[in-house]
Amino acid sequence: MKKKLISAVRKVKISRFRTYKKLGFLGHRQAIDKMAKMTFWTLLGLTTVSLFCLRPSEEVNPISGVIEATEMPDKTLTDTDTIHDELGDDPVQADTDDLLTALEKEVVKGNLSMASYTLEKGEALSTLLKRADIAKEAHPHIIDGFSLLINLRSLQPGMTFMVFSELNGAFKGISLQNKNGEIIAVVKESDEIYTPFSQEGRVNIQNIRITGAIERTFSGSAEKAGLPKALVAKITNALDGEVDFSTFREGDTFDIIFEQKTTAGGLELGDKKILYIGLSIGKKQFHRYNWTDGAGNELFFNPRGQSAEKELLKRPIKGRPRVSSPYGWRNHPVLMARIFHSGVDLAIAKGTPIVAGGDGVITQLGRKGAYGKYIRIRHSNGFQTAYGHMNGYKNGLKVGSKVKRGDVIGYIGQTGRATGPHLHYEVWKNGKTVNPFGDYILIAKQLKGEELDKFQKYAATIHPEFSKHLVGTMAPIPPQKPVFNADNAQKSNIQK
Ligand SMILES: [Zn+2]
Repeated sequence: MKKKLISAVRKVKISRFRTYKKLGFLGHRQAIDKMAKMTFWTLLGLTTVSLFCLRPSEEVNPISGVIEATEMPDKTLTDTDTIHDELGDDPVQADTDDLLTALEKEVVKGNLSMASYTLEKGEALSTLLKRADIAKEAHPHIIDGFSLLINLRSLQPGMTFMVFSELNGAFKGISLQNKNGEIIAVVKESDEIYTPFSQEGRVNIQNIRITGAIERTFSGSAEKAGLPKALVAKITNALDGEVDFSTFREGDTFDIIFEQKTTAGGLELGDKKILYIGLSIGKKQFHRYNWTDGAGNELFFNPRGQSAEKELLKRPIKGRPRVSSPYGWRNHPVLMARIFHSGVDLAIAKGTPIVAGGDGVITQLGRKGAYGKYIRIRHSNGFQTAYGHMNGYKNGLKVGSKVKRGDVIGYIGQTGRATGPHLHYEVWKNGKTVNPFGDYILIAKQLKGEELDKFQKYAATIHPEFSKHLVGTMAPIPPQKPVFNADNAQKSNIQK
């Protein structure tokens, strides 16, 4: 109701604006507005007074005691049309809104051009108009028009204006999609007449689903199926660490849903949003739903409400190391004894960058006996990773530093007890070492309670097979742990 009222009031303002323009009174707009308002209130006041005082035909309803006037004027504050008539404005043309639709259709046909300009941080509308190369004489008209419709101070960085021009560059119009889905615009009708208007419900929101098989590359196949190029990077970023986008096999498939907004005239509006990413790679299924959590972070969650699952890196090195010693028990050729190796040794040239195996916090950094220069990182889900024999640490890192999966933390060396340059890499799960070559999933966030419920209800509206996805996404089965007593092994003859 309030919305309708605002919109109606705006319409009145706009039509009055047009009237003033036509009559050439624009310079006196505010003064005339003031006078008109005063005249209206005075008239309303006089009418009311005359009704109560001068009319003998009033009757008092004996039951309710309410005064029933036989001829109440139908002028009420909410009835903007009446105010509008009162002021003798040029009525709002039903086809005003079609001015913009017409422009958009011409763009689709190729008779006009359209360019988008996004308001930058600290940028005013006037600066954007200059940046968009709009002729100077149009600036005051545009600013005046917009200021009728919105508070210019409420413009925020990131808002995108669509500027319409003739093919020779002459300005035709400018529109802005407001936060609530309403479009406001100023369209040039002639040299003197610039028409501002606003309309809700001009934006069509469509969810587009694209499915297909991956032939050679994911990006190539998805684009061929109709996925906008800009969305490919969003998908690979969202699944970074979970999916290796360079290796697909025959039979792997994708299923993507994205949101597309178009205006009434058929123009696509800027930001397309990925709503769902489905990938079937070998035997693995990935279902990720876009959801903005309570803290305002837009993240991808699996159907159980877990976000940013990322596998710990198996070889956290920028390069292709050789496994010089695997994890587990083995017979030591010199000592003739069974020795437990608590990590894997990854041999590669001295100085090669070592990266964090997953997102986490550094809990140890410094020399540690046979490990030499050593870093330990705590991750989610009870995981920790440790890195030994480093040549040095990345500048600036200290205990408490947060690191992201793939961030450089140091360099290959042979400090401590090491016969050649290599990384001794350990993965710990709940206080015990596990084979670093296992599949370990770190979960960054788990939706719970009411929020989980809301998320799942939403996800079910996005994909028709959500319930199947939910069933198919059981927690990963933990890899078999080697049978050994970690404490004893590490006290006695552990080999680093
Ligand atoms: Zn080792």
